[in-house]
Amino acid sequence: MKHRIVVLGAGYAGAFAAGNLARRLSPADVEITVVNAVPEFVERMRLHQLASGQDLAFRKLADVFAGTGVRLRLARVTGVDPGRGTVAVTGGDGDGELAYDTLLYALGSSVAHHGVPGVAEHAFDVTSRSSALRLRERLAGLGAGGSVLIVGEGLTGIETVTEVAEARPDLSVALAARGELGAWLSPKAGRHLRSAFDRLGVTVHGHTDIEAVEPRWAIAADGRPIPAEVTVWTAGFAVHPIAAASGLEVAGTGQIVVDRTMRSVSHPDVYAIGDSAYAIGDNGRPLPMSCASAGCTGKQATGAIIARLTGGEVPTVALTYVGNHISLGRRDAIFQMVDGQVRPKSWYLGGRPAARLKSGVLRGAGLGIAHPTFGMPKRRRRLANEPDRAGAGAAA
Ligand SMILES: Cc1cc2nc3c(=O)[nH]c(=O)nc-3n(C[C@H](O)[C@H](O)[C@H](O)COP(=O)(O)OP(=O)(O)OC[C@H]3O[C@@H](n4cnc5c(N)ncnc54)[C@H](O)[C@@H]3O)c2cc1C
Repeated sequence: MKHRIVVLGAGYAGAFAAGNLARRLSPADVEITVVNAVPEFVERMRLHQLASGQDLAFRKLADVFAGTGVRLRLARVTGVDPGRGTVAVTGGDGDGELAYDTLLYALGSSVAHHGVPGVAEHAFDVTSRSSALRLRERLAGLGAGGSVLIVGEGLTGIETVTEVAEARPDLSVALAARGELGAWLSPKAGRHLRSAFDRLGVTVHGHTDIEAVEPRWAIAADGRPIPAEVTVWTAGFAVHPIAAASGLEVAGTGQIVVDRTMRSVSHPDVYAIGDSAYAIGDNGRPLPMSCASAGCTGKQATGAIIARLTGGEVPTVALTYVGNHISLGRRDAIFQMVDGQVRPKSWYLGGRPAARLKSGVLRGAGLGIAHPTFGMPKRRRRLANEPDRAGAGAAA
């Protein structure tokens, strides 16, 4: 019987990992199935562009995996039973159950409401294609002078507010920042950011905690109402509750706790990568939810799975985070390098060169998924007679 590898989620982490496994393991021994809720590879890093009205075509996953041997199951994952080695799915071909020998969990994340009243009912977000399209439609229906408030001064908030302001100069666009805008950037990059906001006419409400969202305004902690016909919530990502409900060991964030090889610390047949994984980077801190983390955790997990199944040595992939690359509309960006302790280095790249670099990064990530097996050794490895499936003696 073939070894069944089931990959949950075909985002940046899961799609690339599935292709990598298919390229390097023999189809005579291994059956790889990817489960994804939607038929396209959604480039989440471009969803603020989609929301602002740009036309983006996302690749069909069926095309991505054509000829790789990977089986695609379009369905929504509703549960994992790591004791029985099964995954419950619904949709597509109906409700069902998939059995696995090795599970690679890569379901990503969605918006974090933090329990703030009115967010779920009235706010928009850009964490999934459907929510970005909802916002796009709402913005299109907003007349000149309409007010838009983006809540959150993280990367997604900054990218979203600048994109909306650039696309719709007729709107009154503002950002609510809990602290000081760009405080985590180097002084020069911070100045660059603030001048970009001035150029785009974005109002910043600094040191402002939003405590409630209503249909026409957001309420700050001091009781001040901030006009907002549209509130966009970008105050963090949250993982799906499926992992915690399944009995896998999870962190306070709900992410699956993994060892250095991305293997669940509670269930050795389960690996987690991307936003879903609580993985400690080489600097001793949890890796941030990011595309870069999706890449390195995916490479580390697939390397470990292949080595354990084929009797090879588990490779050590660097788990590092080098910097933040933030788009400021289509013609400006900031690339801020960080040190091992995630402190900003004094050097940064800004303006059009940074925008071109960011655009190259996005294209590269998209192409990497479109050709998930490109550039990898074609040699396919056969399974060892007694592969380390249950983790006995596994070395990190
Ligand atoms: C607007 C925006 C801009 C961003 N910009 C950047 C950036 O510039 N740089 C950066 O590093 N990061 C950026 N990020 C973060 C980055 O997109 C994520 O960290 C990255 O997508 C994580 O990859 P992943 O594979 O773990 O999850 P995802 O890419 O979210 O993939 C998860 C996959 O699982 C599927 N899925 C989810 N739930 C289910 C279910 N129940 N059943 C079946 N399938 C399911 C989804 O459809 C999806 O295909 C941005 C995010 C957003 C929203």
